[in-house]
Amino acid sequence: MTTSPVRWTQGSALKLFNEPLLELLFRAQTVHREHFNPKRIQLSTLLSIKTGNCPEDCKYCPQSARYHTGVAGEPLMDIETVLAEARRAKEAGASRFCMGAAWKNPKDRDLPHLERIITGVKALGLESCMTLGMLSAHQAQRLAQAGLDYYNHNLDTSRDFYPHIITTRSYQERLDTLEHVREAGMKVCSGGIVGLGESVSDRAALLVELANLPEPPHSVPINMLVSVAGTPLENGPDIDPFDFIRTVAAARIMMPTSYVRLSAGREQMSEQTQAMCFMAGANSIFYGCRLLTTPNPEKNRDLALLEKLGLETERGDVKREEDERLHRLAARQKEADTELYYNAAR
Ligand code: SF4
Repeated sequence: MTTSPVRWTQGSALKLFNEPLLELLFRAQTVHREHFNPKRIQLSTLLSIKTGNCPEDCKYCPQSARYHTGVAGEPLMDIETVLAEARRAKEAGASRFCMGAAWKNPKDRDLPHLERIITGVKALGLESCMTLGMLSAHQAQRLAQAGLDYYNHNLDTSRDFYPHIITTRSYQERLDTLEHVREAGMKVCSGGIVGLGESVSDRAALLVELANLPEPPHSVPINMLVSVAGTPLENGPDIDPFDFIRTVAAARIMMPTSYVRLSAGREQMSEQTQAMCFMAGANSIFYGCRLLTTPNPEKNRDLALLEKLGLETERGDVKREEDERLHRLAARQKEADTELYYNAAR
C-alpha cells in the first residue's frame, strides 16, 4: 500500500462533490484505471459470527440491544459452523471472508476462540477479515499474530455529525482502534454510511478523515443506509442514488489505491446505480445472502450483473491464471527433458 501523497482539505474535497456529475465520473474513472484493472471486482463475503445484543447505540443498527428490531441475539458461533460457511463462500467465488461480531469490544477471554477461527479460515486459502468493535493494542497484536489480514472499523460519518449517530464510543476511540490495527501490521478497512441525515459537507469531511490517515485504508466500504424498523433511523430520508454515486467517485479520487467497496444498501440499488458506482471506481462488493443482519442481493444476481457489465471477479482471474499455468506445465511435461523436468515417460 502506498501512502497517499495528497493531504486533502475540506475545501478540496467539497469541490469534488460540487463538480458536474459526469465530469466527476470521468475523473474518478481515469484515476481508477491508473491504479486498477477496471474490469476486476473483488468479492468479499460477510458472516455475522455473533449477532445482536450489542450495548452500543449506533442509531442505524438493528443489532443494538437498545432498539426493538426483532433481531434475535445469538452467542458467538462455534468454530466448525464458521468454517463451514467459509468453505461455502470460497466455493461461491469469494476471496476474502469477513466475520462480524456485535460487540463494543472483544473480551480477552474470547481471543483464543477468535484465533482458532482465523487459523481455520486461513487454512482454507481465504483472506481473513474481522469486525469486532474497538480493539486494544494488545488485542490487535494477538489477532495479527493469529494471521488476521484485515480489520474493519468504520468511522461512519464526519467528526461533527458523529455525536448525532453514536454516543457510546467516541470518534477518537475509533481512530485509536485504527491505529492499533495499523501498528499491529494488519490492513485497515474503514469507511462510512451515506443517508444518516448528514450533509454533503459531512460526507466530504468523512472522506478527508479517511484519506488523511497515516495510510489510507486498504478497503473503504461505502454503505447506503438500510432503514430498519425499530431503529431511530427507521424513517431515514430517501437517498438520491446520484448522491451515493458522487460519494463513491469522490472516495475513488481521494483514495486512489484503496479498494472502494459497495456494502450495505446494494439490495435497494438498481442495476444501473450499481453500474454507475463501478464507473465511479467501486471495485469491491459484499457478496452473499447475508450482510450482517440486512439482506444482500442473491449471489447469482450479483454474478449475472457482473457478467452483463463484462466485469470479472478477482478470484476468477486468479483461478484462470492458475489454470493456464497448469495447462502450460502439462504441455511442457509432454516435451522432451527440460531444465525443469526429467521426462521418465520417454
Ligand atoms: S454498528 Fe456495531 S457497535 Fe454499533 S450497535 Fe451495531 S453491532 Fe453494535
